[in-house]
Amino acid sequence: MTICPSEKCFGCGLCVAVCPVKCISLIENVHGELHPSTDEEKCISCGLCQKKCPVNSPQELRYPLEFYAASKQDSIPTDGSSSAGVASLLAALFPGRAFGTTWSQNHEAIVKCGEPEEFKGSKYVQSVIAPEVFRDISKLSDNSDTIFIGTPCQVAAVKSFVKNGEHLFTADLLCHGVCPPSYLKDELKPLLERFPQTTKVSFRDGNIFRLALEDSKGNILYSCPAQKQHYFRAFLEGVSLRENCYSCPFANKERVSDITLGDFIVRKGQVSWVSVNSDKGQTLFKSIIEQHPELHVESCEYEERLAYPYSLLKPFPKSDYRTKFLRAFEKKGYLFAIRKIARIWRVRDTTKIFYQKIHHAAHLVKKFISKPLSNA
Ligand SMILES: Cc1cc2nc3c(=O)[nH]c(=O)nc-3n(C[C@H](O)[C@H](O)[C@H](O)COP(=O)(O)OP(=O)(O)OC[C@H]3O[C@@H](n4cnc5c(N)ncnc54)[C@H](O)[C@@H]3O)c2cc1C
Repeated sequence: MTICPSEKCFGCGLCVAVCPVKCISLIENVHGELHPSTDEEKCISCGLCQKKCPVNSPQELRYPLEFYAASKQDSIPTDGSSSAGVASLLAALFPGRAFGTTWSQNHEAIVKCGEPEEFKGSKYVQSVIAPEVFRDISKLSDNSDTIFIGTPCQVAAVKSFVKNGEHLFTADLLCHGVCPPSYLKDELKPLLERFPQTTKVSFRDGNIFRLALEDSKGNILYSCPAQKQHYFRAFLEGVSLRENCYSCPFANKERVSDITLGDFIVRKGQVSWVSVNSDKGQTLFKSIIEQHPELHVESCEYEERLAYPYSLLKPFPKSDYRTKFLRAFEKKGYLFAIRKIARIWRVRDTTKIFYQKIHHAAHLVKKFISKPLSNA
C-alpha cells in the first residue's frame, strides 16, 4: 500500500505510530532514506495511515505575528547551544514535559522527553520519532502543557497525531534539510572505531561549524571543519539531503508551529532569529523574556531575515553532484558515494585555487606595467 508519494514522504514515522495492527515499519530505501513499508498480509486497509499522514493532510500554516533577534551578552560563554539557546530556554519552561532531539548511546539522533541540556546543539541529521514517543506526547498533552521542538515536518506529524492540541505547544526550526541517519552512521563508524572513548558528537561550537568527537571529560578527540568534512560538506551543499527536503512545503513564510527558531544568518555573532506565530507562542516568548534578563531581545523586521532565502522562502537546491552521489550510492553505499564526490571537490577546489593564483599574478603584472616610471 502506498501511504503517500515517495518523493514527498518526510519519513516522520507517524504512519507507523497510528497503525492499529502495527503492520507498518520504516525501512531504508535504495538511497538509504527511511520510508514506510507495509506488511500487506496484516494490513486491514483502514486507511488511517493515509488519512493522518502530514503529506496527505497538511497542517494549517500561519503568517507570524512578531519577529525578534535574541542574543546573549558577549561575556556569557557558548554552552553547547547552536545560536542563543532559545530552544533550550523553551524546553526549560516545561520540566518533565519537553520533547526534543538528543543523541542515543549509539550516537543516533532520537526524539525523547528530556532535559533542556540534552537537546542543546543542532544535530544535522534526521532524528527519529519512535511510535511510543508519539503516544507519550499525546498522553502527556492530554491534560498538561507539553512542548515539542523539532523540524517543521516533525511538528506537522506530531500535531496530526495529537487529537486534542489544547495543551500542546510547538516550536519548529528553520530547516536546511536533513540527511538520512544511515549516512551519519556510516560516516561515524570508522571514526568511532578510531576513538572508542567518544561520548559526544557535535556539529557546532556556537557559530563554528565543524564535526567534533569528545570524551566524557570534554577533551576533543577529533575536530574537522565543515568544508573539509565530507558528510558535513555534502549536507551543507545539498548533495545528501532526503529527497523530499528539496521540495519542502515548510520552506515558507507561513509557519506550522507556535514559535519558529533559526540562526540570524545575516547578523554577526551568536544570534537567534525568532518568529512568534500564535497566541501560545506569544505567551511562551513573554515568559522567556521575563525569566531571562541576560537574553538580549530586540524586535526586527521579517525582511531582514528573508535576505537569506533558504528554509524560509524556498528549499535549499539540489547540488549538481546529487545524481552522481545517488548513482554511486545505489552501486556501493554511502562511503563509496561520498568518496567519489570528495574526489570531484578536490579537483574543483584545486582548480579554483589555481585560477585565483593566476588571476592574482596577472593583476600584479598589470599593476606593475601600468605604474609610471617615477625616476625616468
Ligand atoms: C537539521 C537542521 C537544519 C537546520 N537548518 C537551519 C537553516 O537552514 N537555517 C537556520 O537559520 N537555522 C537552521 N537550523 C536551526 C539552527 O541550527 C538552531 O537549531 C536554531 O537556531 C536554534 O538554536 P538554539 O541555540 O535556540 O537551540 P539549541 O539550544 O542549540 O537547541 C537545539 C534544538 O534543536 C533541536 N534539534 C537538534 N537537532 C535536531 C534534529 N536533527 N531534528 C530536530 N530537532 C533537532 C533540539 O531538540 C533542540 O531543541 C537547523 C537545525 C537543524 C537541526
